[in-house]
Amino acid sequence: MKNKDQQVYDVAVAGSGIVGLAMAYHASKRGLKTAVFERNPAASGATVRNFGMIWPFGQPLETFDRAMRSREIWLELSAKAGFWAAETGALCLAYEDDEWSVLEEFYETRCDAGYRIDLLDPVSVSGRSKAVQPNGLKGALWSATEVNIDPREATRKIHRYLRESAGVDFYYNTPINFIDLPWVGNAQNSWQADRVFVCGGADFETLYPEIFAESGITRCKLQMMRTVTQPEGWALGPTLCGGLTLQHYQSFAHCESLDRLKNRYAAELPEYNDWGIHVLVSQTSLGEITLGDSHEYGLDLSPFDRAHINQLILDYLGRFASFPNMEIAETWHGVYPKLKGKTELVTDAEDGVTIVNGLGGAGMTLSFGLAGEIMDKI
Ligand SMILES: Cc1cc2nc3c(=O)[nH]c(=O)nc-3n(C[C@H](O)[C@H](O)[C@H](O)COP(=O)(O)OP(=O)(O)OC[C@H]3O[C@@H](n4cnc5c(N)ncnc54)[C@H](O)[C@@H]3O)c2cc1C
Repeated sequence: MKNKDQQVYDVAVAGSGIVGLAMAYHASKRGLKTAVFERNPAASGATVRNFGMIWPFGQPLETFDRAMRSREIWLELSAKAGFWAAETGALCLAYEDDEWSVLEEFYETRCDAGYRIDLLDPVSVSGRSKAVQPNGLKGALWSATEVNIDPREATRKIHRYLRESAGVDFYYNTPINFIDLPWVGNAQNSWQADRVFVCGGADFETLYPEIFAESGITRCKLQMMRTVTQPEGWALGPTLCGGLTLQHYQSFAHCESLDRLKNRYAAELPEYNDWGIHVLVSQTSLGEITLGDSHEYGLDLSPFDRAHINQLILDYLGRFASFPNMEIAETWHGVYPKLKGKTELVTDAEDGVTIVNGLGGAGMTLSFGLAGEIMDKI
């Protein structure tokens, strides 16, 4: 069934997670009449389930500038849309010699490459964070570029800002099940658009399943937790990570000293490797602490969470951080799409239709920058 009296769009976006929002943001900035279609009553995928860490320093050289461009847009949108965005920076903590060696090597090889980083001794670390466990601390890598947002609040307010101030139309409870340009729609309704961006996150089945299957993309499940609101406005300050994170983030992948650390973790913490656990700490606009995570890969992920994984995360957290109130108020898991060895999947499905997906664990950090690059090429 086709709408007779509807708006004709320059751009239609399927999916209202951060990738779809970033495409809509750049399209509307270029004066293009844009619509976003979301199959659920609100965005409820990876975009509202993450740490809210805009983390340029976790990116390798190739994508660092993209992350920094995203960072600028996050700050701009925070001011315009009225959501919390704290320029907290980040601390990466070392308690073992091999962890400190990786941080030193990273600093030596990247301090002149645009990263705003420094090496801190334990006393300086304590000056920056009340949460860090001082016993046995060898030091930390400080990065000044990281921003902490609250993904649930920010997503809601970016939707509202794009809708009310940028002229983007949002259609909720509206899956896009077919694309046959100039028509896009579902069994109930369809709309006209010149160009479509497919930003469906971990849904590889509804639109162009054959392209997703050929790409080799898979899914990654991450278990997460959140504490109650910390008392008396207690602020985390810099977002935190411990040594396990060094083997997960691509920015450290070039460090030769990483092998020694990986070998020790394999011998001493095999369960952490089995479940892909490393531990990150951020805060929300309400003062809760967000904790995670694990990494389980595959197309057939269990819908059920393991209490044991959460306990491993909390045990490792205890090595490097604590907060006034450690009571866990929420647990959940999120799923993101991941294309091994690639930072994104951007491909033309047919004339006028582009799939934008596969940003893995860095979609919050990279989407606004990537979307700008895509729109510039059109
Ligand atoms: C637990 C966790 C922690 C993370 N932490 C961070 C972090 O701190 N920093 C960072 O940079 N990245 C982080 N990430 C990664 C980041 O969250 C993802 O890369 C990003 O959110 C992916 O956004 P998306 O828009 O592709 O997908 P999603 O957020 O999943 O959005 C896709 C949307 O499309 C809708 N949809 C799907 N198909 C259709 C259709 N056919 N029609 C209409 N709507 C459709 C879905 O309902 C959904 O709302 C994390 C991810 C997870 C899971």
